[in-house]
Amino acid sequence: MTGRVTERLARGLAAGLVAGGVWWLVESAANWAFGGTIDARAAATILELDLALGAAGGVLVALLVGTGAVVLALGTTAVFGALRVYEPPGMRAELLFLVLAPLGVVMGVLLAGRERRGALAFLQVALVAVAATVFGKAGITEAQSYFAQTEPSAATLVLLLVGMPLAGVALDRLLGIVLRSHGMRLGLELAAGALALFVWGQPLRVAPLDAPLPVVLPAAKGAPDVILLSLDTTRADHMSTYGYARETSPNLTALAKDALNFTQARSPAEWTVPGHASMLTGMYPSRHGAHYVGTADAPPELRGRERVFPLAPDKVTLAEVLREHGYRTGGFVANFANLDRVFGMGQGFDHYDDAPGVMLKPVPHAVRFAQRFDPTLFKRPFRSAHQIAATALGWMDGEPAKRPVFLFLNVLEPHHWMVPPAPFDRWAREQPDAYRLMRRGLFTHAIPTHLTPAEQAFVTATYDGQIALMDAAIGELIAGLEARGRYDNALIVVTADHGELLGEHEQVGHGGRMMYEGLLHIPMVVKMPGVDHARGTVEEPVQLVDILPTVLGALGVPNPPGVQGEALPHVRHEIVAEEEINPEFVRHYGEVYDRAMRVLYDRPYKLIATSKGERLLFDLGRDPGEGENLAAREPERVKDLERRLAATGSVMIAGAAAPAHAN
Ligand SMILES: [Zn+2]
Repeated sequence: MTGRVTERLARGLAAGLVAGGVWWLVESAANWAFGGTIDARAAATILELDLALGAAGGVLVALLVGTGAVVLALGTTAVFGALRVYEPPGMRAELLFLVLAPLGVVMGVLLAGRERRGALAFLQVALVAVAATVFGKAGITEAQSYFAQTEPSAATLVLLLVGMPLAGVALDRLLGIVLRSHGMRLGLELAAGALALFVWGQPLRVAPLDAPLPVVLPAAKGAPDVILLSLDTTRADHMSTYGYARETSPNLTALAKDALNFTQARSPAEWTVPGHASMLTGMYPSRHGAHYVGTADAPPELRGRERVFPLAPDKVTLAEVLREHGYRTGGFVANFANLDRVFGMGQGFDHYDDAPGVMLKPVPHAVRFAQRFDPTLFKRPFRSAHQIAATALGWMDGEPAKRPVFLFLNVLEPHHWMVPPAPFDRWAREQPDAYRLMRRGLFTHAIPTHLTPAEQAFVTATYDGQIALMDAAIGELIAGLEARGRYDNALIVVTADHGELLGEHEQVGHGGRMMYEGLLHIPMVVKMPGVDHARGTVEEPVQLVDILPTVLGALGVPNPPGVQGEALPHVRHEIVAEEEINPEFVRHYGEVYDRAMRVLYDRPYKLIATSKGERLLFDLGRDPGEGENLAAREPERVKDLERRLAATGSVMIAGAAAPAHAN
């Protein structure tokens, strides 16, 4: 008796290990075909998970159901489905699956032929069942999109997980009518699968854009390296550098002590594409033209998104000017989604690296299962700030030391609503309900959102931790420059493209939200080159458009045409922000997004004007939380600010964006 149990165990274990390997193979192929990215370390971790869970599942099936080849193949496939459907504490989908999956296995065994034996039969049935499950499910419900709800409902999911293996077995059976040899059938199925992958697969290209140009002008002797670091989605008032109570940015503070620190910097935009385009061109969004398309009529489609104009090739970027003046130019961006080269921000870079990090599409079942216990496992699809800094420094090392470099770095941690790794998770974990909240998706584009005070505190603590994690990489970057003897003579700018709303005014996230201070007030630290450069705090308002004139001014290079910013530290231009309508937000989240916005600051006042005729006037001195709209009480001031806004030439109001694209 024990001998038979031992034999069952051994067969179950062997089958489970092979099944785990099949899961890994099929899901890796799907990941490639659907445009995911994965590195060797992640692949090895997922393989370990698959083998461990497959082995456990195989033993379970062998002990409880049977050890026939087809029974093991379909039994382990049911275990594969169970990994996907398991979501504690609920038992709704799980219960349905527990009822239907055994029925599916019985039907599958009858369909495949109970009499089939041996390793080949096991492998073939497991392969067709798992491949049908993964590709069927991904094709039907999990094609990843930015906006669509990608999660199928519980009932749909269960039906797919039970039905797809049957469909796979049925197809194989149909093929069996014309091709009786199982070995040849397996060969044919593998060949057809590989062919289909290569024909329909849409793998993501991840290689950097390499377009080095011959030097036109050699750089001036002693020309400084220029380092521009963009902290994506970072609001100034959550950095200890600007007085925030949590110590979120000690490394930026250290740099700021040796630099000019602008406490009143404002982004002219509230999301990635227009913010970075302003940073790189010195123009406001309505002039550089890289922003939401405004209307749903004939928009360009980029990376599957019908919503944004890229930066046009005729706009001159900082990288282009510096390259013309002998610089080697390298861009290293973590925001692979919105700084992808198709958005035009790679102009002028010899080397533009916009690869994602580990991005699982679709998420393997074993990873899903493991995420129930470790909610952060493989949840960061972009490269870390640490990776970005190290990659940029490595590229710099590969360059001829005599030539100055322009490094443009974009890091993305605060963009991500997720508990950061230790020790940066301490603020989040000390929240009362942290364990439950870290398993819930609280982010939404929907307005209004209704975060409870506990949820808002948790989201804020998470956001703060991500800033601290990113700040550590600022320290690594500065230390790396110092170690290479390239700190003192470097011109270093650290800033952000926009901030993030964390539940204020019942809004979270950025892009299309009302342009409150959480979105526009950004950090800006500028260290000029040389030993006796200017230092200190500057409390006058400045903007991202001032970066290009500042850098070029320090080098004695004239601005290209069309620049609207001025050289820091003192600027005279109006402080403006602009946002067009995102038609996709309107389509998916309703009328609330159907308005363009413009902002003008006149300290302490701030006017927000929308294309729907709304006017919001705040006194930021008395009311930094923007709780009291003074527009009705101060119509004259509103009119005056509107006149000044018009005088800036800002035209970004719905329907008026056309001139920016007439060229
Ligand atoms: Zn951004």
